[in-house]
Amino acid sequence: MKTTVLIIGGGIAGTAIARELSKYDVDVTLVEKEKDIAFGGPTKANTAIIHAGYDDKPGTTAAKLCRRGNAKWGRLSSELSIPFRRIGSLVIAFNDDEISVLYELMKRGEANGVQDLRIIMGRELFEMEPNLNRKAAAGLYAPSAGVTSPYEAAIALAENARMNGVSFLLETEATGIIIKNGKVKAVQTNRGTIHTRYIINAAGLFADEVSAMAGIEEFKITPRKGEYVIYDKNLRSLVNHILFPIPSPISKGITVTPTVDGNLIAGPTAHDIEDKRDASTTFEGIEEVLRGACKLVPCLSARRDAIISSFSGLRPQPSTGDFIIKSYEEPYGFINVSGIKSPGLTSAPAIAEMVVEILRAEGLRLEMKSDFKPYRRPIEHPFRDFNPAKAEALIDQDRSYGHVVCRCEHVSEGEILEAIRRGATTLDGVKYRTRAGMGRCQGGFCTPHIIKILARELGIPVEDVTKKGGDSKVLLYRAKHLLIGDEKE
Ligand SMILES: Cc1cc2nc3c(=O)[nH]c(=O)nc-3n(C[C@H](O)[C@H](O)[C@H](O)COP(=O)(O)OP(=O)(O)OC[C@H]3O[C@@H](n4cnc5c(N)ncnc54)[C@H](O)[C@@H]3O)c2cc1C
Repeated sequence: MKTTVLIIGGGIAGTAIARELSKYDVDVTLVEKEKDIAFGGPTKANTAIIHAGYDDKPGTTAAKLCRRGNAKWGRLSSELSIPFRRIGSLVIAFNDDEISVLYELMKRGEANGVQDLRIIMGRELFEMEPNLNRKAAAGLYAPSAGVTSPYEAAIALAENARMNGVSFLLETEATGIIIKNGKVKAVQTNRGTIHTRYIINAAGLFADEVSAMAGIEEFKITPRKGEYVIYDKNLRSLVNHILFPIPSPISKGITVTPTVDGNLIAGPTAHDIEDKRDASTTFEGIEEVLRGACKLVPCLSARRDAIISSFSGLRPQPSTGDFIIKSYEEPYGFINVSGIKSPGLTSAPAIAEMVVEILRAEGLRLEMKSDFKPYRRPIEHPFRDFNPAKAEALIDQDRSYGHVVCRCEHVSEGEILEAIRRGATTLDGVKYRTRAGMGRCQGGFCTPHIIKILARELGIPVEDVTKKGGDSKVLLYRAKHLLIGDEKE
């Protein structure tokens, strides 16, 4: 196979780059080792905040791209129908020392070009957040901060890029890089060799390993684990803004954040670990999350019953401390988009533009396509959006919209079928596209129904339906095989 630009990694960085390049007349291919977009890294497991941009030190690439990326989310979300709301954030100080940190953060934000930052005290603070700890002394308010759905964003970017001609190869792992005369020639994968002029390394946690395949070993990626809990939607009205504590030297701290879907999320912790595949949650981690959350919103201490799920994500923490987005004299044609730690989600649209400029500077001719299609039609969620007229119209066209499969999130069979038509082949693929299984019962009711729909539509036995590809089987064998003791029959 042959392409001009090969992107390694289908997280938010890789898909944003694919979509940006799809505006130009150039042959682009993206390889992703997992079964679906956004399955393999932090893109599926983060706080989903579009940060205002006061955290990173002025002059760093992360600071520059965070502010630029934040400004792009409004247009991006409306073009691609990505859920996004600018709800604003507050960093909460509890004493004079912490208040002086708020002033430092404000100064840093202003140096980064963040507008409308304001320190709020007294009555105004508690009017904005009636359930905030009464011992809170002040808050740094950033109205430009927002929340989104990171996996839906990556899926939307990929769908639109595909619509504009980018090829996506899933379950395709880059295993080696062929270099000749100091130039990139090809990428070896588990499915064969792909010849290419340019390689974009957007492999997230594994970007140091892919970079080493090209002979560049100037940085290491350490996984920094962040654990979370998610609260039921009936707690959503407790908090109006993204609430942060004072940041620590290694993280922005444990937040309490309203999600774009109407839940509350608390987390993340921040602990460096060894294993890039260890996405487990721990008793200690969850207790730490709850302590942090209850310090900001004390009434949460009485609502452990409202926790519906927990999960963890691994930040790809680079040894350089900053995003590594650059090309090299040798091997010519290799571009690192590595160490995309937080705020990588926020920065993704700006990262993509920066990569296009690097490719141009490296001699790639990039001419705008006259027929670029900027818009993506979303999957309709008439019940979730409380739109009875739309629901009626859809049911008139297709009876499957009248069959509600996920009762917690009000997802119909019609939406699940649409998700499968758009590329979902697993339970998580359906979940990330429709939210089926993400509600109060966490799939307890709908999972067997979705398995049957997936098996029917994909033409496979129910036992072959997986949670997220590979060996993540949900059903091991039929009950009758268990009874007769021959599961292989
Ligand atoms: C706990 C936590 C909280 C965070 N909160 C926020 C936040 O609120 N706001 C924010 O802006 N950012 C946040 N981030 C950061 C953000 O999630 C990341 O910066 C971003 O998701 C990184 O995206 P990526 O595409 O670079 O990497 P990934 O999401 O890791 O994507 C890389 C992809 O490459 C694939 N891959 C790897 N190796 C290969 C190979 N050899 N061949 C083919 N494919 C390969 C992987 O399977 C994966 O799908 C947070 C991160 C964490 C962990």
